[in-house]
Amino acid sequence: MFHVKHDRYDVIVIGGGHAGTEAAQAAARMGVRTALITHSAAKIGEMSCNPAIGGLGKGHLVREIDAMDGVMGRVADQAGIQFRLLNRRKGPAVQGPRTQADRALYRTAMQREFLGRENLDVIEAEVADLSVVKGRVMGVVLSDSTVITCHAAILTTGTFLGGVIHIGDRQQPGGRWGEAPSIPLSLRLKAMDLPLGRLKTGTPPRLDTRSINWTVLEVQEADPEPVLFSFLSKSPVARQIACGITHTNERTHEIIRENLGRSAMYGGHIQGVGPRYCPSIEDKVVRFSEKSSHQIFLEPEGLDDITVYPNGISTSLPAAIQEAYVRSIRGLEQARILQPGYAIEYDYVDPRALRATLEVKDQPGLYLAGQINGTTGYEEAAAQGLVAGLNAACSALGRDSVLFDRSRSYIGVMIDDLITRGVTEPYRMFTSRAEFRLSLRADNADQRLTPLGIEAGCVGPERQRVFEAKCEALNAGTSLLSGLSVKSRDAAARGLPINAEGPPKSAMELLQVPEIEIESLIAIWPELGAVPREIRTQLGRDALYAQYILRQERDVARMRRDEELSLPEEMDYGSIIGLTTEQKTKLSRVRPGTLAQAGRIEGMTPAALTLLLGKMRQMEARRAV
Ligand code: FAD
Repeated sequence: MFHVKHDRYDVIVIGGGHAGTEAAQAAARMGVRTALITHSAAKIGEMSCNPAIGGLGKGHLVREIDAMDGVMGRVADQAGIQFRLLNRRKGPAVQGPRTQADRALYRTAMQREFLGRENLDVIEAEVADLSVVKGRVMGVVLSDSTVITCHAAILTTGTFLGGVIHIGDRQQPGGRWGEAPSIPLSLRLKAMDLPLGRLKTGTPPRLDTRSINWTVLEVQEADPEPVLFSFLSKSPVARQIACGITHTNERTHEIIRENLGRSAMYGGHIQGVGPRYCPSIEDKVVRFSEKSSHQIFLEPEGLDDITVYPNGISTSLPAAIQEAYVRSIRGLEQARILQPGYAIEYDYVDPRALRATLEVKDQPGLYLAGQINGTTGYEEAAAQGLVAGLNAACSALGRDSVLFDRSRSYIGVMIDDLITRGVTEPYRMFTSRAEFRLSLRADNADQRLTPLGIEAGCVGPERQRVFEAKCEALNAGTSLLSGLSVKSRDAAARGLPINAEGPPKSAMELLQVPEIEIESLIAIWPELGAVPREIRTQLGRDALYAQYILRQERDVARMRRDEELSLPEEMDYGSIIGLTTEQKTKLSRVRPGTLAQAGRIEGMTPAALTLLLGKMRQMEARRAV
């Protein structure tokens, strides 16, 4: 199916995981000649760990990728077997769409995106080296010594660089279960003096569905009205299923505690730091010792798959101990383990070495995206792939970069966090990371980003048409709402929670009251019923948040003013009197592009920023003389 091989491309993407697929698709949409080189074309779209896409913060990223016409949202909609909107009872700003996915359907749908895609070749090979000419990455060297040249290369090698799998005290080289690691490339990056570190992550044992006693478990159903990811999707494609819920207990914890010394992590075999927010069961038992039980979701890995993913018990204990603790859990007394849980340790590159385009500052032509930058999760990887793919293509085309602002998108929040703060543990997205989260909602990702995508040239004609039609409908709806008004007394008489003695209210003003839903206004103004339902819902949300957003916009304007102040690349931080040694070291290492970025570096104070401002002014004055 795949594999034309030319000897020159504009953009070469190395790795067919979540970052690589999104990077290659984005570059191809921009119209540059792109190749995706990966170990196995049949593994494109593979989910290394949990069979699920989205969730809190992560669902926002998928919507944003979709708004830029990326593929992850559409593919997840094809493969989703249990759509659920998380935080449904809370406000729209913190709601996160999520779906369990059928692994095989996800792979198939993702691979379908590559069939016949213009400007995009897939090559099955291992990249062993990078070709650097006059200080710029100009190509890749395959393990059979073939050289393929390019304008820019994007590395998206996930957990494969120097990957080591740990189960108890046993270790074996591996990029993920059953696949070899990428060693030559890891050595090459070390030789290039990139700042490498080690991180780790883990996965639970997989269980045979036929050995689980489902009848004693709680059941969690899919949402009756599924919320999908893509702004282009209408309804789920696959059959929707339920999953089971069970819990660990005192006996489970006792088995784990008794064997902690045999866990790869607690036995001292792993140096890498793991994800604090996605802890192993060993971690949970030690860190939350006061808890006598932890919840486990038993998620089928597919409609025709006997494998079940027990979400919540990732581990690096020996296989026999895994079996013992699994069998201590209600419903799993007879459970058969199909594949043991394991931890994996791998190389990552300190993302402070990157520009906001994800190009390595000191290595022109080389971009990095995904787990290699210290993140964890498919969605975080895909979002970085999008950024690197767009920008590598822009560089090949000689166009300005496509930059994502943290006040406009979660993608911008993540990139800014990574390149200014770096990571001390695998980075995952949360809504709490965004200071402007009232306006960065999953529901308005298209309103925020599709115009940027259209301007950049990565949005296809179908999405552009759908988006423009939606904007027209929203504008018409907004005019309608602003033009309708009612006496407060009449509105209160109809049961709306407003002061009857107040001045007349427009429909738009009524919608700013959190307890008033747009559906309840149809009784006053029947013409609202003619506005399509999804447009009505969106108008209601936009109106509800409008006043908060006004306040936020003032904050954003202030932040933008700072952001516009660029810090000169040649700034000698060591010479600024008054900065602490730690601040000087951090600033010299990060070399922030703007004052706002400098402000987000850990340990930076308002006083330090004033010193930076002073130094900038001094340098400007000197240049002016
Ligand atoms: P990957 O999906 O790993 O893709 C890397 C790709 O690069 C693969 O296609 C590989 O074949 C290819 N490749 C590598 N080297 C070369 C080379 N030299 N030449 C050609 N191709 C190459 N995420 C969570 O959110 N929560 C979790 O609990 C979690 N647990 C995990 C547990 C395990 C054991 C693993 C392996 C991963 C886990 N993840 C988890 C992480 C999740 O799988 C990754 O975040 C995500 O897959 C990263 O995407 P990526 O595109 O960066 O890399």
